[in-house]
Formats: sequence, structure tokens, C-alpha cells
Amino acid sequence: MSTSNPEEQPVINYKLGIFGHPLSHTLSPVLHQTLLAKAKLKGEYLPYDIPAEQLRSHLHQFIAEDGHGLNVTIPHKVAVMPLLDSVSQNAQLIGAVNTIIIQPDGSSHGDNTDIVGFTESLPALLKQQLPQQHVVLLGAGGSARAVLASLIQLETQKITISARQLEKALSLKQSGLFMREAYQSQTQLDTCLISELENLQPIQGAINTTPQGMWPHTEASPISENTLQQLFQTSSSESGLFVYDLIYKPQDTQLLKLAQRLNVQTFDGLDMLILQGVAAFRLWTKAELPNSELFMETLRQVLLNKLTLSE
Ligand code: NAP
Repeated sequence: MSTSNPEEQPVINYKLGIFGHPLSHTLSPVLHQTLLAKAKLKGEYLPYDIPAEQLRSHLHQFIAEDGHGLNVTIPHKVAVMPLLDSVSQNAQLIGAVNTIIIQPDGSSHGDNTDIVGFTESLPALLKQQLPQQHVVLLGAGGSARAVLASLIQLETQKITISARQLEKALSLKQSGLFMREAYQSQTQLDTCLISELENLQPIQGAINTTPQGMWPHTEASPISENTLQQLFQTSSSESGLFVYDLIYKPQDTQLLKLAQRLNVQTFDGLDMLILQGVAAFRLWTKAELPNSELFMETLRQVLLNKLTLSE
């Protein structure tokens, strides 16, 4: 695992990777290889395409081969949890692990960096405004859980969880109540059907966590122009109105195009994707990476090049 440098200091050769199935479209290797190079660290980050029934044996093998860290993606994010020695509070609250840190003694710790990835992708001013805002969450799947945790941590005034099946929204609200208690937050939580969104009070923010509008179905939107207009109508003179789409391919989804027509500020999913990866990389390596806009822009370009090539 380690070699010697001229000063006899051990040089770590980082063994990193991602477990998932299928993995053909993952951007994680290109992101983390770039981060290794930028941090001037030796190592590799490899994709491991692993079917569900082989998860346990591959995890044990990775640890036995002195692995340092893993990302975990669909379909293993939940199934991996009981296989780990410990799991962070954030990962427990979300009910999913996306990052595993292997300690020097071989013990494994699961964490979830999607919360911090989402939080850090928001501008400071918007974070200050959330405690006065009513935000609608579109979708109640895996990524919605991390976004909900972040919004509750940030003391958003009110969150309405909307889904196409009310029981899924209600189930996520139940998790949200645990998050609220764990984070000692006062956020109000409500639910509704996506089809009934236009009946809501005016909102200040909407966050799409559904895949509606993702490439190649780029004409689709989780809500119509009319609904979006109605939701923002009476608040349209306020500042701080926003629509965030977790989709990063394409960056300018149909939903974001509709929001731009209403002069609402928009955010795509690329920065969250990068920042959850950077957070995982910091957990594995303790590397000091720049926090600058220039550094973010470099990473965006690396991922955008890869996204264009994979079309
Ligand atoms: P997921 O766990 O499958 O959840 C998807 C959610 O969207 C579910 O609530 C699902 O409802 C709903 N949904 C699916 N199709 C819909 C439709 N046609 N109309 C209304 N609702 C619909 O997926 P996920 O992991 O949360 O990922 C969702 C999206 O977020 C994907 O586009 C993914 O690429 C993106 N994402 C981005 C990042 C990032 O870092 N930027 C991170 C994670 C995910 P049902 O339960 O009724 O099916």
C-alpha cells in the first residue's frame, strides 16, 4: 500500500472506487482522477460494476486489498448499510450511504455527502433567505431525502413535499419529522400531489428531484408553465425566488427554461454532483482542495466534456 519517498515519509497510494450496477454512465472516475491530480496525490479511482448478490464479497475484498474509500450508487446505497461497521447520523437519517471510508484498522464507516453537496451548491444569500421561504420539493425518491435533510438543516420556513403518489410524500414527511428532531429545526412540513400543486400558497422556491426532463427526454418537465406561473405569481416581485433542478444532463432543462422566463433564478444539478464528490474525496484523503470559483469551473468543464463525449 505504501512506498517510501526520499525523506523516508510514507507516500499513500490511494485505492478508491465506486460500487454500482450498471455503471456505464458514471462521472465519478473522471471527477476523482481530476481531484487526485489537483491534490497531487498518488492513487486510482476505479468503477466496480457489481450485481447485488456480490456486494458483500466485493466489499470485503476491497477492504482486504487495503482500499481507502468507496462511493456507492444505485442499487447498493441502502443494501450496503448493514455491511458496515458504523454509519453517520446523516446517512441514517437519509437511509442511504453514498460514501464509505475505510479506516487504517480496516473498519468501514458509511456516510452520505449528498446533503453537504446540495447545501454547498446554494449561494450564501439564498441560504440566509430560506428561513423566510416556502419551498416545494418535486419528487420523493432517493435524492429528495438528501435535499429535504439539507433544507431542514438550513431552517427553511416551510417545505411542501409533492409526489405523484401521496403515500410516498407522506412517507418522506415522516422521515422529515425525524430529521427535524435530529437537527433541532423548526421547519414546517406538508405534502401534496404534484397534480394539485397549483392550489398551494405562493412559494419562493421549487426543487426538482424527479428525472422528468433528463436526457434524452429533454422536452419533459415535472410541472407545466401554467403551474409554475401560478406558484410564483403573487411572490414574483420578491427577491430570492428560485428553481433548482437536480438534473445535470442537460444543464438547461425545460423546467429551468420555464423558470428563466419568469425571471426566477435557476440552478442545475452539476455543482451538487461535483460538491458531493469533493466532500467524499476530503473524507478519504483529508486533502486540502481549493474552495475557489476557478477550481469549481475547472471541475465543471471536466465533467461537461465527459457528458458531451458520452452522448
Ligand atoms: P429515485 O430515487 O428513483 O426518485 C425519483 C422520484 O421521482 C420518485 O419520487 C418518483 O416517483 C419521481 N418520478 C419519477 N418519474 C416521475 C414522473 N414522470 N413524474 C413525477 N414524478 C416522477 O431517483 P433519484 O436517485 O432521486 O434521482 C432523481 C433525479 O435526480 C435523477 O435525474 C438524477 O440524475 C438526479 N440526481 C442528481 C444528483 C446530483 O448530484 N445533481 C444526485 C442524485 C440524483 P415514484 O416513486 O412515484 O416513481
